[in-house]
Amino acid sequence: MSTHQHRIAKIDVHLVSSPVAAGFADATRTVETIGFTVVRITTDQGLEGFGLTYHEVGGEATRSLILHNIAPRIVGRDPLDTEVLWEELFHYLRGVGRKGLTYCALSAVDLALWDLKGKIIGLPLYRLLGGGKTRLPVYASGGWTSYGDDQLVDEMVGMVGEGYSHIKFKVGVDNAQNLTRDLARVSKVREAVGPDIRLLIDANNCWDAGTAIKFADRAKEFDIYLFEEPVLADDIPGLARVRRGTSIPLATGEHEYTKYGARDLILGEAADIIQLDGARAGGMTEMLKIGALTQAWNLKFAPHAMEHMHMHIVSVMPNALFLERLRIFEDVSNKIVRNAPLPKDGFIEIPTGPGHGLELDMDFIAEFDETKVTGRP
Ligand SMILES: [Mg+2]
Repeated sequence: MSTHQHRIAKIDVHLVSSPVAAGFADATRTVETIGFTVVRITTDQGLEGFGLTYHEVGGEATRSLILHNIAPRIVGRDPLDTEVLWEELFHYLRGVGRKGLTYCALSAVDLALWDLKGKIIGLPLYRLLGGGKTRLPVYASGGWTSYGDDQLVDEMVGMVGEGYSHIKFKVGVDNAQNLTRDLARVSKVREAVGPDIRLLIDANNCWDAGTAIKFADRAKEFDIYLFEEPVLADDIPGLARVRRGTSIPLATGEHEYTKYGARDLILGEAADIIQLDGARAGGMTEMLKIGALTQAWNLKFAPHAMEHMHMHIVSVMPNALFLERLRIFEDVSNKIVRNAPLPKDGFIEIPTGPGHGLELDMDFIAEFDETKVTGRP
């Protein structure tokens, strides 16, 4: 533990992208780029913490907001003041967006401050937060609607072959106009993987409540563990209607932000499993509160994607189900982090180093940085 008080001295932001050549599509859009925003915060004593968010679109805007607006307000401040800084930034930024890119920027900064906090104190975050599991369940997530049926089944069988017991794929094929084919695909996957694998289904906002309930009625026989984003994320009454209309547990939250967004989902009775994403929803500071809200309502907590940023909160939150490993992110996320823990038999071991316990690969990041500019406030 460092004895002298640290001060934030410098913030760097790197945008690292890789084009998605295969043109993966879910029910409502095509993914063209996977981009990670890497935020490094260095103290006056040379200690560095990092946080991540991601940008399929808008990376430059996130970077600009961090370098030109957030950085000048936090340079010179104590990085341990995560609560104070979050609250200040919340009020500073709230006029330009209480959801979206503003919160992607704030999240990455907050996650970097928490990494620093762990490094200053000399503990991995899960220990700093009170201790928890060190071996975390993780599910594999892919199964794009742009896949042919055989390609879908092959990918799912491959995941099971790698030891995953929980696998997720997408429905809403043919512009969300072909329930019969969606159900046939669910049936084919179930048949291929056998009865013991837990199937998670993601509709990516594509249906209205009536269609989603009709799908759920017919999909129930395939023993679905979780049904995600069946209707537009903003249609909280619609989510509530689907939830009342099916016995399949409903999941949502990857498009929601802050504790206020979580509150609205919870009070709207919109889901059984809350999936806010700490790299977008407000960082570790906010995810601790979101997690606590889900616990108070006896709901499950399962953060969306970004497993390396979510390991520690999933470790300590008693109602957390698992991490999500998005296959489409793997290539970039494994290269950004030098010691990225890899899933084995459907579990990830939390690294034992301080903070996130992760080490950036600055050679890779520098080579692929879109901006090639080191920002200083
Ligand atoms: Mg999803």
